[in-house]
Formats: sequence, structure tokens, C-alpha cells
Amino acid sequence: MKIDLHSHTHHSDGALSPRELVDRAHNMQLDALAITDHDTVAAIEEAKVYQQTQKRPLWLIPGVEISTRWHGFDIHVLGLNLNHQDPKLLERLAGQSEAREKRAQEMAEKLAKAGVEGIYADAKALAGVGQLTRSHFARALVKRGAVKDHEDAFRKYLGKDKRAFVKPQWPEIPDAIQWIQEAGGKAVLAHPARYDLSAKWLRRLLVFFAESGGHGMEVTHPQLAPDMKRQLASYAKEYGLQASVGSDFHFPGRWTELGRNLQMDPELVPVWQSWSAPASATE
Ligand code: AMP
Ligand code: MN
Ligand code: MN
Ligand code: MN
Repeated sequence: MKIDLHSHTHHSDGALSPRELVDRAHNMQLDALAITDHDTVAAIEEAKVYQQTQKRPLWLIPGVEISTRWHGFDIHVLGLNLNHQDPKLLERLAGQSEAREKRAQEMAEKLAKAGVEGIYADAKALAGVGQLTRSHFARALVKRGAVKDHEDAFRKYLGKDKRAFVKPQWPEIPDAIQWIQEAGGKAVLAHPARYDLSAKWLRRLLVFFAESGGHGMEVTHPQLAPDMKRQLASYAKEYGLQASVGSDFHFPGRWTELGRNLQMDPELVPVWQSWSAPASATE
């Protein structure tokens, strides 16, 4: 089974619409796809309705990627296979959007002080229907010629403790886990190898995540070094976490593609093991 449990649409910082993402999943011959936008489930219904008009099978799994804060790090928690229409979840995610809006305005003020005026409107226009993210600010800064590329925007302005950095008001990890569980989903720690944590701190994070009721962790994503992949698999076993795989797809590119290179250690317990695909998706 070809499965990808981490992807974005233009409802956050992805480039594709929900329909385009579904089409791409078909073209990449995925059997299952989770849509996991940053702090929003706005893409899910549109993707589902569109998928129902298709003759091609695809198991769409409703998801979200919740931003949390832990010891000054931005830690992302995936909520998988949840009820994307759960009123309480929607209320909580609306709070995340408000926090994003507030942070965006403060980032724009800091950028103005650093000599880059009026970037909020540019970022907002780039975000369109989507949740406003630092990616949109980065793109706006590139367009202005204020930085040379996306990475440069984070290095100079948007990254942790840089000139336009604003400490985000995200919930704690246990809160996000609770939100996900109350909406019937499984909480999965996203891309554990991407937080620039030392081995000691990564272990701390995994212990804390598991003790807080976290269900699983991503054990692979594209471009993960084989050593790290083995390391993550061994952590999953050690801490009793189930395994998830995802490309964290944002846009078609040279290095990123849906479902590519996501094989995992067969000894691990997959998070999707106990889920059942709707009959129509597997026929
Ligand atoms: P936000 O959730 O608004 O803080 O934005 C985070 C998004 O910005 C992530 O999902 C990435 O897509 C992107 N991002 C974060 N840090 C970097 C970085 N150092 N370089 C490039 N993109 C980044
Ligand atoms: Mn992103
Ligand atoms: Mn993430
Ligand atoms: Mn992501």
C-alpha cells in the first residue's frame, strides 16, 4: 500500500488547491493520503467532495498539523484520522488562526522597523484563502527583493530570535494531543529530526510526547539520512510509539513529491493499522 500521511494545500502554506492535491495523489498512485494543513481543516471537505466524484480509488484521511510550543521550540503535532467537523476542534483551530493573525501583525511591525514597510498586505495576498504562515512572509520578502531566497528570509528575519521573530502563542503539546483525541484522532509527532534538537533533547521530547498520551511519531520523510531513519525507528520501538510516514508535501519540486521514498522498518507498528478505509476507497 502506498501511503502518505502528511501534506499541505493552499489552505495553509501549500501551493495546490485540495482538488489539485487529490489529482496529484492519483497521479502518484497513492492508496491513502492525509491532508494535514497548519492549524486548519478547511481543505478536507472540499477534497472529500471532489474525491467522491472520481472513479479512481483514494483513501482520504482527515488531518491537521497543530503548532505547539515546548521549551522555546516550535513542535508540530499531527492529528490523524479525526473528525474534521468536530465543533470543539473547529473552535480551537479558530483560536490558532487568531494567534497567527496577531503574530503576523507583530512580525510586520518588526519588519517595518527593520526598513521593510507594508509587508503584511503582501503576505496576506499571497496567503489568499489560506492560513497566514511565515512561509508567506518569506515569499513576500523574496518578491520585494529584501532577501535572496526563502531560506535567507528565515536566516535574516523570520527564524528563531532573528530580527522579525515574534514568540508565537501556541498551546502546549499535551493540549494539542487532547484536542486531537477529543476529535477522535491520533496524535503523531511530526518530523522529529527537523527540530535541531541534540540527541538528549530529542529523547526528552519523545518521552514527554509519549507520557502526554501521544500515539505515534513520524519515522521517515523524504531526504532523511539512513542513519537518522534507523535512529527514529529505534526510538519508536523504545518509547512504544506507533509509526507514521509522510512527505510533508507543500509544492511539486525537485526534492519533494507525494508518497516518494517513504518505506519504513517492517517491525514497526503503523499508526494506520487499526483504521479501516471506507469501502468506496478500496474497491
Ligand atoms: P509558521 O507555522 O507560520 O511558523 O510557519 C512555518 C512554516 O515555515 C513551516 O511549515 C515551513 O514550511 C516554513 N519554515 C519554517 N522554518 C523554515 C526555514 N528555516 N526555512 C524554510 N522554511 C521554513
Ligand atoms: Mn509549512
Ligand atoms: Mn511541520
Ligand atoms: Mn507539514
